[in-house]
Amino acid sequence: MNHPLNDKPYLSPPENKQTPLYKCDICDEEIFEGDNCYKIDDIVYCPECMGTHLQIIAETIDIEAFLADLENEEVGD
Ligand SMILES: [Zn+2]
Repeated sequence: MNHPLNDKPYLSPPENKQTPLYKCDICDEEIFEGDNCYKIDDIVYCPECMGTHLQIIAETIDIEAFLADLENEEVGD
């Protein structure tokens, strides 16, 4: 099947004159308008560092849940 709808390649030249809105406080990655960025307690995260941050939080929660589980077992004994 041949779809002659969009034969033209989408070529949008990158705008090099853009100035970054923010800079990731963790890895110094520049964050431009339209890019995803996250701000927690005045710390700016790029999506990549936000992912790492969330992972750390998730791991912390996991450890706390694990410790709580151990405590529960002790109490139940
Ligand atoms: Zn970053």
